[in-house]
Amino acid sequence: MSTTAEAPAETHEFGAETGRLLDLVVHALYSERDIFLRELVANAADATDRRRFAALTDPALALPEKAAIRIVPDKSARSLLIADAGMGMDREEMIAHLGTIARSGTRAFGAALADAKPEERPNLIGQFGVGFYSAFMVADLVEVTSRKAGSEHAFTWSCDIASGQGFIIRPAERAEPGTDVLLHLKPDAETYLDPAALEAIVRKWADHITWPITIARDGKDLPANEGTALWRRPRAEISEADYHGFYRHLGHMFDTPWATLHWRAEGMTEFTALLFIPGTRPFDLFEQDRSSHLRLHVRRMFITDKAELLPSWLRFVAGVVDTEDLPLNVSREMLQSTPVLGRIRKALIGRVLAELRTKAKEAADFDKFWENFGAALKEGLWEDTEHRTELASLLRAPSSAVEGLTSLAAYIDRMKPGQEVIHYLVGEDLVALRASPQLEGLRAKGEEVLLLTDPIDAFWPERLASFEGKRLVSASQADVAATTDLPDISVLTAALKSALGDAVAEVRATGRLTDSAVVLAAGALGPDLAMQRLMRRSGRGGPMPPPALEVNPKHPAIAALAAKASDAVLVGRAATVLLDLARVAEGEMPRDPAGFAREVTALLAGSLGSG
Ligand code: ADP
Ligand code: MG
Repeated sequence: MSTTAEAPAETHEFGAETGRLLDLVVHALYSERDIFLRELVANAADATDRRRFAALTDPALALPEKAAIRIVPDKSARSLLIADAGMGMDREEMIAHLGTIARSGTRAFGAALADAKPEERPNLIGQFGVGFYSAFMVADLVEVTSRKAGSEHAFTWSCDIASGQGFIIRPAERAEPGTDVLLHLKPDAETYLDPAALEAIVRKWADHITWPITIARDGKDLPANEGTALWRRPRAEISEADYHGFYRHLGHMFDTPWATLHWRAEGMTEFTALLFIPGTRPFDLFEQDRSSHLRLHVRRMFITDKAELLPSWLRFVAGVVDTEDLPLNVSREMLQSTPVLGRIRKALIGRVLAELRTKAKEAADFDKFWENFGAALKEGLWEDTEHRTELASLLRAPSSAVEGLTSLAAYIDRMKPGQEVIHYLVGEDLVALRASPQLEGLRAKGEEVLLLTDPIDAFWPERLASFEGKRLVSASQADVAATTDLPDISVLTAALKSALGDAVAEVRATGRLTDSAVVLAAGALGPDLAMQRLMRRSGRGGPMPPPALEVNPKHPAIAALAAKASDAVLVGRAATVLLDLARVAEGEMPRDPAGFAREVTALLAGSLGSG
């Protein structure tokens, strides 16, 4: 698309969602207005990083020698300027990036905001990538003048929030590539004209930005940040407050890290790493387009946050890795092919796992970590053959036998003599799992069952297969051999099977129920019931084999039905109800919900003597 400098001013509407979002940001975050400066300075630094990186492949885009981020308050005009020499934006980019919400969407942001405690709200702004809008907390009118590096043309984007008119784009002049964000401050935001107040904010939020930041005072641009690379300083010189400040800057996080790992690796590959394991779960942990908070630097210079320095199951780790073993002008292709990154990655995984092993000794503290990030580590159990055993020893899960969480090792310690396998059951919530008929027989035998409720739980047990020599077996996969010593109801089971036809693979008597009359069982070899449900829902995996219907011969209803097994009409109606009851106990719908409701109502009327 060509941009014509002669194009006239154009008015654009904000998307409906964007308008609402603006309102949210302005009002919900009012008590934390200072963060507008953090957001705008962060954008300026990002743009400067981007230009530096682009110049590696296109020297024409090179940064000017003094690529500072300038903050210029103007008392007489009551305006505040944040200027950078970064990548800039062309007309289309301004429309796309400043006029619409690209990422996770307003609705999600609104919902998260409503849920968040007031002190967590500022956190959300950065996480949702809506930082630019925070400018409207302090300004009525915002003018962004930008010239993209490599282009002759500049444009001004402006929005007067009171006009309700959306934003205007018009051609402009700018001597050099880069961006000016000019805020016309609201009357009650005059403190942001005071250089000392601005400096205090920069020190608090932006001190870790490695580009120089200056604040204009009496016509002079004075440095406002140290710009030191914290991770390069010896640990002994760094206070906990320094670490926490840096952590917050990195990931737009407002919590305190659960673990801080800072070390220098020497030998084959030399690098410094400063990694944080967050103390809370980021809202977007399971979003596809989540941005990484793990940055690769080469000799202090930021290179990229997309280098996959950790596997996806450790994606919650934030931090910085700084190496001397890559050239400063490392290209994208080189990042993909260099063995250096593979070696760093291996070392980082090893170090994080070692930290988790150590911290796992403090059960209560480790459980907190597990509640936040266990579901991500379980993805490693599924996909990472190399670390599977190690991850299995970190695994924690609720169980039918203990309060809180248990490890597999502790489970094995509690196993009954004669218990051969580790039982588990997957479902959507813990309350339903604890009440599931699938547990009855095992509970009666005093055998413990792990209760798993994360979506990923349908997958990994199959891959892990065993732990310390004990097989993992789903409680929904019946052990047919265990069914002995039962009253003979073979006439009834045959009649039920012929009434149900292909809806079930088999109808058989079982000894694994105590209170329930029926239960579904998956075949011992194929996927368990939870996995089947998941595959059905996602439409993958083709048709599933029907489950077996297991009936409890000791249950009064079954015993009574067995006595009337020759009444084909009665057995036919009962068969449908029994199968649907077994489905309902699994959290599934009856096959014909309305018919099921009618049938159960009729039975109820009968048992109350009114039918
Ligand atoms: P985020 O920074 O998380 O992407 P923002 O709302 O802060 O979200 O900014 C939106 C987008 O606008 C940025 O991703 C960037 O593309 C663009 N942008 C904002 N400020 C600048 C700037 N100073 N220079 C270049 N692009 C910018
Ligand atoms: Mg931003």
